[in-house]
Amino acid sequence: MTDRPADRPTACPVCAWPLDQPYEVVSRHATSEGVVTYSRCACGEMRVALRPYGGAEILRP
Ligand SMILES: [Zn+2]
Repeated sequence: MTDRPADRPTACPVCAWPLDQPYEVVSRHATSEGVVTYSRCACGEMRVALRPYGGAEILRP
């Protein structure tokens, strides 16, 4: 519970904002794959996160 997979980023590479606590959620909607969340980081970077139904969240660059 303390460690996360190494291939999953945990903080913004630009401003180090924690990715699991979006600075500003722009929109969130359900798709056939899961719930997609569009968020804006504290530094202005846009991100798309997909949280599959019943699974762990996948962060896309
Ligand atoms: Zn950032």
